[in-house]
Amino acid sequence: MDRAEIPMQARWDVEAFYPSLEDWKKDFTSKEGKKEGERWPELAKFRGRLNEGPHLVLELLECALGLERQLSKLYTYAHLRHDEDVGNDPFKEAFLRATALIQEFRKESCWIEPELLQLSPSQLDGLLKAASLEPYRFYLERIIRLKPHTLNAAEEELLAGAALALDAPERAFGAFNNADLRFPAVLDSQGTSHPLTHGKYAVYMRSPDRELRKNTFLTLHRAFSVYENTLCELVQGEVQKHSFYTKTRSFPSCLQAALFPHHIDTEVYTTLIATVRKHLPTLHRYMAFRKEALELDELHLYDMNIPLVGDVEIKMDFDTAARFIVASVAPLGAEYQKNLEKGFFQDRWVDRYENDRKRSGAYSSGCYDSRPYILMNYYDEFNSIMTLSHEAGHSMHSFLAWKSQPYQYASYPIFVAEIASTFHEELTLRHFLATMDDPLKKAYLINQQIEAIRNTFFRQVMFAEFELKLHQFVEQGIPLTPTLLKKEYRQLVADYFGPAVTLDPEVEIEWARVPHFYYNFYVYQYATGISAAHALVELVLKEGSEKYLKFLSSGGCRYPLDLLQAAGVDMRSPAALEATMAHFAALTDELKKALKAAGLKQKVCP
Ligand SMILES: [Zn+2]
Repeated sequence: MDRAEIPMQARWDVEAFYPSLEDWKKDFTSKEGKKEGERWPELAKFRGRLNEGPHLVLELLECALGLERQLSKLYTYAHLRHDEDVGNDPFKEAFLRATALIQEFRKESCWIEPELLQLSPSQLDGLLKAASLEPYRFYLERIIRLKPHTLNAAEEELLAGAALALDAPERAFGAFNNADLRFPAVLDSQGTSHPLTHGKYAVYMRSPDRELRKNTFLTLHRAFSVYENTLCELVQGEVQKHSFYTKTRSFPSCLQAALFPHHIDTEVYTTLIATVRKHLPTLHRYMAFRKEALELDELHLYDMNIPLVGDVEIKMDFDTAARFIVASVAPLGAEYQKNLEKGFFQDRWVDRYENDRKRSGAYSSGCYDSRPYILMNYYDEFNSIMTLSHEAGHSMHSFLAWKSQPYQYASYPIFVAEIASTFHEELTLRHFLATMDDPLKKAYLINQQIEAIRNTFFRQVMFAEFELKLHQFVEQGIPLTPTLLKKEYRQLVADYFGPAVTLDPEVEIEWARVPHFYYNFYVYQYATGISAAHALVELVLKEGSEKYLKFLSSGGCRYPLDLLQAAGVDMRSPAALEATMAHFAALTDELKKALKAAGLKQKVCP
């Protein structure tokens, strides 16, 4: 459908921050700085002068953050307009110009942190104690923490110069995975051939046709196996990079180096793995139940993604879904509901429907001076309702943080980024369960909850454990070989999935296709995020929403573990993790009951 045919009410209100592209261009021209030499001489004039004292540092921060804020507004508008129609040339040009300008700004401002860190300890202490810098104290403290792990100016320059080359493994994996690698077509049970791509993989794995699922799983993994030596070298190169930075910056381990900037204790990571390990029988029990419910002699990894309850239709048009979501967040109070409803309808945060050349997928995006916009491609189906709820959670987090915090603390740290979205999903699911009588639909929803925990929690912890192993091998001087990685990975899969699951030899190579192993200890945050979100839902239902709303409004004004602690969840202890697994066990029991109540037996194959 052409975008012009989409009614205004269904499009996001980007006009709210620039009435037209012409207005954007005018603003761009006034903010893009000088065309020759230093673009922003007002920033450059502080260079080499940070030892003059707190007043100068204050002026610098106000100047740099002020520029950053203006540029992010320009960038946000251009990227939203570009995404609504990626074939629109004037928008594309605006987007490319805004992107280039941001890069230019990063280049011209990249000296600030290193130069701050070259100040003497007493000078830095003076900055932290200066009354005038009070609004930036935490901002500065976060930078100054890195001082013991920062080298002298010449060494830092050398490191920065090597960064591009050291990032080669990640880029090479991306090029291989997204561009070069091709899969053969796969056959279904009728002998019909289907083209296999990354996108289609997930679709076929949910197909009721078991032959198609099996062929898809085996074909995709065999395609990676062909390149196992190359892929092993790429992962090894990535881990060696982390290890190089770890040693250069005097950290005791790669894990510590990755977690330190966010002030997250390594115990959070190791407790996560140890706690889940202890409770793996909970997952094994679900696997045994899955095997029984699907009436299979052997449960394979390609039997994991089909719902135990198929063919359930939960449909709503956009307006109904938006109102349903607003109703579902009632535990967060009338004010929260009112703001969300206003965002959905009056302020038009959401660009709702697919149109020609619109970006696929869904996200929540925006900046300090815009609304927290949502891009999605809404269809009248269950997954779209949940996506809308998820993205609306992100947007409400942004909305409250931007409203409550000064610019320097407005964005929230990655460690807590998925909490508000998962929180929303959980409330919406609970609202479905509370308002629905159909036992079949209930069973379907419980199954959805179980699968969400299996994928976001258990699977990610398994990845996190593998990632830690990779780094420990390299730290101990043990070379990574395909044989070693396959053996270790197979053992992990066996431990996590348990005795009810039959493992094909192809599972051993799965590590080779996981892009997250190039993200430097990232995946564990999916697991801590869902766990914290569930714990917060329980707290809100028990004690009210005050602390949780304060957490959302805090943005990034403190370290993530401290933000959560204040909201009532201690991620250093296993309590929230234990609760997630207890919840998983309870859901398994509930599903058993619900399936019985619905008198259901799942048809596996056509
Ligand atoms: Zn999200």
